[in-house]
Amino acid sequence: MLLLFGVLIGRLFCGWVCPFGLAQDVLHKIPGRKFALPEWASSGKYLVLLFMVLLIPFLAGESTMYSFCRICPAATLQVSLPYLISSGFATISAATVVRWGVLIIVIYFAIRSSRSFCKAICPIGAIMALLNYISFVVVRLPKDACVSCQSCDSSCPMNVRPSERAIKEIPVNRTPDCIVCHDCKRACPVVNKRMVNSA
Ligand code: SF4
Ligand code: SF4
Ligand code: SF4
Repeated sequence: MLLLFGVLIGRLFCGWVCPFGLAQDVLHKIPGRKFALPEWASSGKYLVLLFMVLLIPFLAGESTMYSFCRICPAATLQVSLPYLISSGFATISAATVVRWGVLIIVIYFAIRSSRSFCKAICPIGAIMALLNYISFVVVRLPKDACVSCQSCDSSCPMNVRPSERAIKEIPVNRTPDCIVCHDCKRACPVVNKRMVNSA
């Protein structure tokens, strides 16, 4: 299903559907000092996918503590928390503490760095990322009338510099970390002017 969705829509799921992506967007609105993750950090999700989703659970069995599913912060928030509350907090174990520790770290980074979990850790994002190159969804910015204002770059939650592809007439979503959110199009003065003119 993931591969089918990925081929059809690339990472559009990440920009428009995933509740954990929305949670990160909301957390990032909390005021404070912000920073962008370095480029190399986005390789992390491929290592998580390879080792903690595929290799280690395959070799050590699904009950291993080193599987990503054991510490997935989305699962902690959306599954473990309701379960913990419904059990009256009677199910706290060492594994629970580790899971909550991971979630707190992810929340901290989400506040400081936009979509940091999506960019550096999420194995679903890693699967979808490569399919951005072949998906049917296309997001374009105008090359002909570009005024090099960089508004698209500064509005991008994944910090993937859409203006670089706009100048080369490449769809801006043809890069692994684009979540197809269209924020760059909304921020572009040329696109906005054309929409006003055509209205
Ligand atoms: S990268 Fe993962 S957590 Fe982020 S929006 Fe996509 S599926 Fe959700
Ligand atoms: S390049 Fe545009 S569509 Fe892609 S993540 Fe950045 S703002 Fe969103
Ligand atoms: S926001 Fe529009 S005009 Fe400004 S750099 Fe990006 S594509 Fe060019």
